[in-house]
Amino acid sequence: MKHLFSYSVYQDLNDIGKDLQATFSRIGCNGLETLTSHEAMDPVYHRYTVSVHLPFATDWLAAWEGRAYEMSEYYSKYYMYGRDRDEVIATIRNMIEMAAPAHPEHGVIHASNVDLTELRKRRYSLDSNRVLRTFCEMMNASVADFPGGEPPFKLAFENLWWPGLRLQSDSDYRLLEKHLEFENWGICLDTGHLMNTLPVYTEQDGIETLLKIFDGYSQDLIDAIGGVHFHYSASGRYRETFEEVVHTDGPINEYIAGSYHHISTLDQHLPFSDPRCKELIDILRPDLVIHELPGHGHDPLLDYVQQRSLLDRARYRPLNRTDSKQPSILPIKVLYIMLNRESRGISNGTFQRG
Ligand SMILES: [Zn+2]
Repeated sequence: MKHLFSYSVYQDLNDIGKDLQATFSRIGCNGLETLTSHEAMDPVYHRYTVSVHLPFATDWLAAWEGRAYEMSEYYSKYYMYGRDRDEVIATIRNMIEMAAPAHPEHGVIHASNVDLTELRKRRYSLDSNRVLRTFCEMMNASVADFPGGEPPFKLAFENLWWPGLRLQSDSDYRLLEKHLEFENWGICLDTGHLMNTLPVYTEQDGIETLLKIFDGYSQDLIDAIGGVHFHYSASGRYRETFEEVVHTDGPINEYIAGSYHHISTLDQHLPFSDPRCKELIDILRPDLVIHELPGHGHDPLLDYVQQRSLLDRARYRPLNRTDSKQPSILPIKVLYIMLNRESRGISNGTFQRG
């Protein structure tokens, strides 16, 4: 089992320490899961990259179903993977190719979709099964032309709280199994995202609730979970009480920008502090545990050490704070969840549904 720290190509490696190898060995870290972009990956990241997180597009379904939002080719990649089916397929294929030189053990893709106009709603109009079936169709078409009809590295599909892969039971996994036409794929289970689909109010609630859910998983699904994004999110109260805002008119980019705070409040990415979190990992036994901790303004490696030491005590000395000149790192949750930093650059220009 390897333990990875999540990072991105939008961040400078120097920000997590001058001698990364020494820092990693001291804190029990086998390397990075690196969020990539649609551009070629700077080889400077290769040395530390064990796995990759491929870019997410929030509303690829809009492009796939011929109702794309009007925006530039560049930004459409970050919101919809393109503007029509051909562009979506080309974008997905390209992002896989761009990450391949790093020889990742897996490449994570969010298997979900939310209508951009519903980001601040409590319930979403899309049907999860329809999203998942269409996701399979999109992935099959994108992977088909790789040699042997297989991607160059394993694709690991990750759950969110939006429609699509949620992993409250085996059924989502069965659907993927039925509809995907290639073999080299698996599941990356995100513990906090699963909590975001459930009435979870405290860290302890989150652990208890997930233990019950994992108890209902088949061995097939547990075997397919090769990676775990490890953190907790106990936002039940917020999810019940936030004020809904639906986009009706006006520039949708403003609505999206106004949703960042909502998303990061809902999806907390906090480090576990309760030793019982180890039971979650003991059931799933993934190859990769990715500590997906943005730090919330302080050194994220401190959160890493706190959580890591709960899984395997005794072997780590506390991090020497001076090793990391951690600036207040980018709001990583936003990078991961939604839109990648690039798409946040949309601040003016036309951005209407076409
Ligand atoms: Zn995740």
